[in-house]
Amino acid sequence: MTRRHIFLILSLLTLLAFISFHFANPPQVVEVTRFLMGTIVEIKAPLDSHGDYAAVRRAIERAFGEMKRVEELFSVYRKNSEVSRINRLRPGENLKVDPETFDLIEESIEYNKRTEGAFDITVKPLVDLWKDAAKNNALPSEEDIRAARARVGSRYIKLDGQVRTISFLLEGMAIDLGGVAKGYASDRAIAVLKDNGIKNAIVNSGGDLYCLGRKSSEELWSVGIRHPRKKDDIYLEVKLENKAVDTSGDYEKYFMCKGKRYSHIIDPRSGYPAGDDVMSATVIAGDCATADMLATALCVLGRSGLNIIDATKGEDAVVIFKDSGRLVSQSTKDIEKRYEIGSKN
Ligand code: AMP
Ligand code: MG
Repeated sequence: MTRRHIFLILSLLTLLAFISFHFANPPQVVEVTRFLMGTIVEIKAPLDSHGDYAAVRRAIERAFGEMKRVEELFSVYRKNSEVSRINRLRPGENLKVDPETFDLIEESIEYNKRTEGAFDITVKPLVDLWKDAAKNNALPSEEDIRAARARVGSRYIKLDGQVRTISFLLEGMAIDLGGVAKGYASDRAIAVLKDNGIKNAIVNSGGDLYCLGRKSSEELWSVGIRHPRKKDDIYLEVKLENKAVDTSGDYEKYFMCKGKRYSHIIDPRSGYPAGDDVMSATVIAGDCATADMLATALCVLGRSGLNIIDATKGEDAVVIFKDSGRLVSQSTKDIEKRYEIGSKN
């Protein structure tokens, strides 16, 4: 027998051992991870006592398929996505769009009003300007910021609900759904999981989460809110059931210039990145798209933004910020009466 034969036989035996172990001891949780929308997306579903591993796995695959579809629709990186086609519109031109795109843009415009201008999908000219700054490691000139800011404003988007068209009122406008698309995709993934009979699961798109049902009959899902300055440390832990939770912060995507940190979230009103005193904002809401938009907005508004969070709609929030050099947090009033929260600090 040659070494090659021995290797083949050993590989086969290992595979057989794995398969027999897998069927004798099916995993208690089905967990699949993919890279989508520029982040790591994880879907996890526990098997109940009569759980069918293959059926749960199939449901998860379908949920990923749905997220991919949403990514293709809204990506600004794909030349033929619906959003890219919108962004090629000149003033006076109309584009008839998919009902899903129309509704998400309409909702984003509503959230622009609700967040007093802090959340604005027309922020793209400023996002691009600051991305170039990061690439060149040089701050943009005030004149460039002023020129880009003049092309920003949700009030310059015109929607016609009767014929489902969109148009821009200003030259050089463009939209970026980066502050809501991940949340929306998670909501769609949850809808697909439910349609496929899944009652308990967690969808985590890089910090944008939905907790469907519970972890087990005894336990709720436990979500860790990251420490914004200590990688791998958890700042707070919150127990949730049938809730979305989304964190936006300045610690994942940012650039440093002359010792100062510049966040990827832009204040559309000033044209500058959100202030470095707000380190992260976490929002709990009934759905991920809402939590996503509000978390982005709270990074701009800081703790004063907690006033727009509406407990009667099932919303809560935690803002972590710097106060006289110290890292502190502030939450919506009475949050601890609604959730079990564990402080790790
Ligand atoms: P998130 O990580 O959900 O806070 O979204 C951040 C992304 O949303 C950025 O990478 C931009 O693409 C976009 N964005 C930046 N600033 C804003 C803003 N003020 N309103 C809406 N979207 C924004
Ligand atoms: Mg967001």
